[in-house]
Amino acid sequence: MKTTIQSFIPPVRTLMGPGPSDVHPRISAAMARPTIGHLDPKFVAMMDEVKQLLQYAFQTENALTIPVSAPGSAGMETCFVNLVEPGDKVIVCKNGVFGGRMQENVERAGGSAVMVEDDWGEPVDPEKLEQALTEHPDARLVAFVHAETSTGALSDAERLCALARQHDCLTIVDAVTSLGGVPVYVDEWGIDAIYSGTQKCLSCTPGLSPVSFSERAVQKIKSRKHKVQSWFLDLNLVMGYWGSGAKRAYHHTAPVNALYALHEALVILQEEGLENAWARHKQNHLALRDGLAALGISFLVREEARLPQLNAVLVPEGVDELAVRQRLLQEYDLEIGAGLGDLAGKIWRIGLMGYASSAKNVAYCLSALRALLN
Ligand SMILES: *Cc1c(COP(=O)(O)O)cnc(C)c1O
Repeated sequence: MKTTIQSFIPPVRTLMGPGPSDVHPRISAAMARPTIGHLDPKFVAMMDEVKQLLQYAFQTENALTIPVSAPGSAGMETCFVNLVEPGDKVIVCKNGVFGGRMQENVERAGGSAVMVEDDWGEPVDPEKLEQALTEHPDARLVAFVHAETSTGALSDAERLCALARQHDCLTIVDAVTSLGGVPVYVDEWGIDAIYSGTQKCLSCTPGLSPVSFSERAVQKIKSRKHKVQSWFLDLNLVMGYWGSGAKRAYHHTAPVNALYALHEALVILQEEGLENAWARHKQNHLALRDGLAALGISFLVREEARLPQLNAVLVPEGVDELAVRQRLLQEYDLEIGAGLGDLAGKIWRIGLMGYASSAKNVAYCLSALRALLN
């Protein structure tokens, strides 16, 4: 080799896209602490605290509440490969990109997916779900995305879960973007399986997926007729590693430093308080909305269904959406997101997630957009 590759020093950006979001400096500092053994008693005690803190974040007493050692997509897959058995019928609500991935997961797990579709930008329609439940009394599960990051729409998880329960279905809920940004009440809403991610409203580095399973879901997993097809994600094995009281059995090496980071993220959330975190997301969303209105920019999603942490807004007529995003990145070190699928070229996705949801970021983004659009 003629040249020696140098250390990688990333630029300092402001992350206001669909994730990852800005990492809190306390979390970056936690991540740099010395690595210890994953079976070290000090580390095991920290794992127990992570579980407790996650129970708070999810508002649940579920014993099986742990971070999967891989990103949000692996949390999604954990739910599907453990709960779907070959031949199971699953009702999948789809109103954006991530509902489509749920369908793919069901089919790969050997199940059959009944699709309940809504337009992108709309929340899941409870009436359509109810109709599907009535037409398919043999369905075993209902799956939906609480906060559709691809469109910025929030669905009524409480109502959808109540309908599923009335029809004796377990629920799988995607809370990757909702956790920490809007209310999520796992026990009160009767959610059976839920997964999230660390890099959205928890302001942590990407790479872990908090999950939680109800007692009913655990019973279904324990009484499976077929082995879970994935060895790594098989909760029957993972429970032995994360299980409480039980002697910890080696399953895989936990990502030690990533778990320091999640621990710190959850300590920060606990210090702020969930309700205060939700209120902060709402307040900054409203400030952004008002500033965007002054620039003549409107939202894709109607007001009642808007996500405060992910603002999907229409690119003004005659504006080159890619050029604006590129200039934001190059000239302002500011990242915002593009539209996906049919919405590509039509919307921007402005994230106000976790630590990035601040009055300072709202003002910075508005002033940069104002300068570029004029
Ligand atoms: C980001 C996201 C995921 C995937 O998470 P990764 O960490 O990227 O694997 C899944 N669902 C939703 C709604 C998301 O926003």
